[in-house]
Amino acid sequence: MVRSLLAVSSLFLLLLSSGCMNLEAASPTKTEKTIMLSNNHMQKADAFHEQPLSLAEIQYGKNSVYFNGSRSKKWVALTFDDGPDDIYTPAILRILNKYHVHATFFLIGQKAAQYPNIVKQIVADGNIIADHSWDHPLLPKLSNQKVLSEIDRCRQQLKQITGKDVAIMRPPYGAIKGKKQVILRDGFQIVDWDVDTLDWKPGRTPEQILNSIKKELKHGSIILDHSGGGNRSATVKMLPALIQYLNSKGYQMVTVDQMLHIPAYKLNETN
Ligand SMILES: [Zn+2]
Repeated sequence: MVRSLLAVSSLFLLLLSSGCMNLEAASPTKTEKTIMLSNNHMQKADAFHEQPLSLAEIQYGKNSVYFNGSRSKKWVALTFDDGPDDIYTPAILRILNKYHVHATFFLIGQKAAQYPNIVKQIVADGNIIADHSWDHPLLPKLSNQKVLSEIDRCRQQLKQITGKDVAIMRPPYGAIKGKKQVILRDGFQIVDWDVDTLDWKPGRTPEQILNSIKKELKHGSIILDHSGGGNRSATVKMLPALIQYLNSKGYQMVTVDQMLHIPAYKLNETN
């Protein structure tokens, strides 16, 4: 058993290092190398689940919390956290559909169980779903085992509803201290944001939300909004104006997997 695991590990390291060497020759950018490592890791993650971290994995981990995409393209990713619910998430979906825009929804497992049809609608509309934990705890305060159960329970719930095995997660509050490797080893890519709209703050107006985005926006920005977890009427009201603004400035709106060149779903998904 140990011998076969070692053999698998050696093969993986060989694949990884040969992949790296090919990349050195073919494409010189650091970002692309990181992405290739990430994809290799995704495919072999299960074999490594119980193993100590390899050097390649440690390097991979250093580069695997994404805050933005390439700054060289005029594109942005709209992301919505804390859904689904049955009021604001459907309203946001209607607006996205109207403007033919796709976004990324970081969903809470417990809410997904409550509103499975909204989750299905998010996917049916061409958006991406991702993991935002089972019930939105501060992960750094939990044991490693509890962190894994929080994100895996959400993943299982989303898979049960949609058949999709999500591969991207965002920690609640973006809080990841001390837990990054645990999450990466579980086969996830971690995606945070670089533009925080603070749309969750009580009393925040649509104008304030939009102005904060205009001020902070860069090429490759990942914009954080919320589709659930409270009264999101200001977010809903602001969204058409945001999309119109981005269109008028020539920004392409994409999902985070497109922007970061990472898989949204695990390769073993059945559909
Ligand atoms: Zn959240």
